[in-house]
Amino acid sequence: MSKNYVIGFPRIGEKRELKKVLEEYWAQKVPFSEVQNVASQLKKRHWNYQKDAGIEFISSNDFSLYDTMLDTSIMLGAIPKRFAHLEGEALYFAMARGSKDAVAMEMTKWFNTNYHYIVPELSLKDSYKLSATKIIEEYKEAKALGIKTKINIIGPLTYLGLSKREDGGDCFALYGRVLEIYKELLSEIAKLDDEVVVQIDEPLFVKDLSSEVLSLIKPSYDALTSQASNIKIAVVTYFEHACEATKVLVHTPIWALGLDFVYGAKNFEVLELIAKSDKVLLAGVIDGRNIWKSSYVQKVELLEGIAKRVPKERIITSTTCSLLHVPFTLRYEEKMDSELKSWLSFGCEKLEELSMVSRVFVKGLSSLKGEQKEAFDTNIKTMLARHDSERIHDKAVQARAKNLRKLQRDGVFEERIKLQREHFGYEDLATTTIGSFPQTQEVRQARRDYKAGVLSLEQYESEMKRYIDYCVEVQEECGLEVFVHGEPERNDMVEYFGEQLQGYAFSQNGWVQSYGSRCVKPPLIYGDISRPEPMTVEWIAYAQSKTEKIMKGMLTGPVTILNWSFVRDDIPRDEVSKQIALAIYDEIVDLQEAGIKMIQVDEAAFKEGYPLRVANIKTYEDWAVRDFKIAVSAANKETQIHTHMCYSEFNDIIKTIEAMDADVISIETARSGNELLKIFKEVGYKQEVGPGVYDIHSPRIPSVEEMVEQIELLLEVLPKEQLWINPDCGLKTRKWEEVIPSLKNMVEAVRIVREKLK
Ligand code: GLN
Ligand code: ZN
Repeated sequence: MSKNYVIGFPRIGEKRELKKVLEEYWAQKVPFSEVQNVASQLKKRHWNYQKDAGIEFISSNDFSLYDTMLDTSIMLGAIPKRFAHLEGEALYFAMARGSKDAVAMEMTKWFNTNYHYIVPELSLKDSYKLSATKIIEEYKEAKALGIKTKINIIGPLTYLGLSKREDGGDCFALYGRVLEIYKELLSEIAKLDDEVVVQIDEPLFVKDLSSEVLSLIKPSYDALTSQASNIKIAVVTYFEHACEATKVLVHTPIWALGLDFVYGAKNFEVLELIAKSDKVLLAGVIDGRNIWKSSYVQKVELLEGIAKRVPKERIITSTTCSLLHVPFTLRYEEKMDSELKSWLSFGCEKLEELSMVSRVFVKGLSSLKGEQKEAFDTNIKTMLARHDSERIHDKAVQARAKNLRKLQRDGVFEERIKLQREHFGYEDLATTTIGSFPQTQEVRQARRDYKAGVLSLEQYESEMKRYIDYCVEVQEECGLEVFVHGEPERNDMVEYFGEQLQGYAFSQNGWVQSYGSRCVKPPLIYGDISRPEPMTVEWIAYAQSKTEKIMKGMLTGPVTILNWSFVRDDIPRDEVSKQIALAIYDEIVDLQEAGIKMIQVDEAAFKEGYPLRVANIKTYEDWAVRDFKIAVSAANKETQIHTHMCYSEFNDIIKTIEAMDADVISIETARSGNELLKIFKEVGYKQEVGPGVYDIHSPRIPSVEEMVEQIELLLEVLPKEQLWINPDCGLKTRKWEEVIPSLKNMVEAVRIVREKLK
């Protein structure tokens, strides 16, 4: 053993076994015992993978049937009232997914990852009660298999920091009650063995902490460590530096501290402090967020750098975070070409890396013999090969990005909008939709059949065109003013573009858990990006040929494409983003040439890319705005650029949104009333805005009256000249039976409001 540590392992299964059995269980096709069977097999397999790779610290309780934050709520007995009549698995899944009589709990992004957790709902009336069964049983389960695990739990401060209170108050008001349960839990854990390591995850510590949270760190960890003398507590942080918290934690009796040295280089600044204390350092060097093979040489150097400041005996090599955020294994990637594959490392491969790097760090290169020595040498060759590979470097793309002169559109908004309104002649309160129409079974099947070679290109195109024809018909019938083609050819708003861009690759099995049973398969950006051919022009031009109405072109923006991909790690992220922007630029040029003069560039994930630390926000905003502007700088003054964002909270970022300078922005205000819209007025936002007037996330058909009311509320905040009327997001998850009457009602509501305004 060479002292290494895995913060957590993915659980969905390398063939998504957990996803499948959960969905069968929810569809009442298998009993719950079958879910438990699959869960046990998966846990066993994952523990053995880690053991076989020579990992010393392996976790239990990193497994979950849905989400570990939800598990923590169950552990504490933090059950919202509306679920009080339920228990066991019925309770658990009702909290996650809702039941007939109780709506599901909210779900939100886990820090800056694409994983979503169930947001705890707390109340001052709560009294908590420990339920440690899952934690205790999972430990015993591993132990029965001959594996002594560390126990993972989410820390009390992170738990409270990510919770919400039903009356909107401060969750830390419940601190005392919650901490009591954690103390009880540790007492229970202490009974399990002579010595137990408990990993307490406190990723909250990588954010800018309030003085309240900072002041609670020491009392919390003093109290938790004093609970039992046979428990060793490791507090782990990830995704950014945790300098402020570290300064406090070194003065508590915890055993170890986990810091991320890939995404939190500033952690170097607290190494002296750690050195002066007696703490063990879990040095996060194997990247748990990205899929590139580590350079063994560089990782060992990184560790040596750390060891210059902290005694080597006190360093344990670790992953930067749980491996939950990367796919399982490269083993099933049969179609990927071998060169690209040789550059990658998924979860299981990262175990090998960790094992190798920790070994060389502790025992030196000379300890490697035979196969291991070979593996080390091969790694050096692979890294060089990737670095020099022709396929990742495109001189033309690099030169173009470097010498770019045109960074924004011609003309200011006032001038542009005048020309556009003259050209298009749309009325105030113009009606449109966000892009997609219902993705029917037939459309999905046609795409699959075409991919599988069952449908010829000709057959496929005629299927898609039939769908587009229908979309046009429906929009005529509903009386909308600005049309869309409906996006039948797209399975996903990033994948569709990635598949047509140079420098992009796709895995067959690179699934990553997004929430519950849902997984995503982010595409990989491995090389310089360019667009060999038009990506959307044929479809949009075809759709336009079918109607006299305005047809809006539909693209995904550079920042969203970037944020939903695994991005190459050999050049800065913003350089990649700029290259994507140029590819989108080219597409806009071609759309315009084909006569499409209204173009929407979706930035659904713009807000997702925001850094965790305030200090880094400006840099992100600068290049994200820069690249959106570069992309749309292809548009002539008369061409109208729309953008769409899937959220409603713009208070912090309104100036940045304004700086993007889109002519029209559609947003998701439907569920939050017009309160949040006021910010547009307050800052004197000039561009046009389409606040969603109804919620597409629900199958409900909104009535004419309620939409009239909604539009009138909007008019209290923004003038009619500035407003567009649309649903709050794309309609692809809805059914035609819901979409058609909803849109008809929306158009009718606009007619009534316009009439009243006359
Ligand atoms: N144009 C896309 C659609 O309508 C936008 C999707 C999104 O915002 N997530 O589906
Ligand atoms: Zn949206």
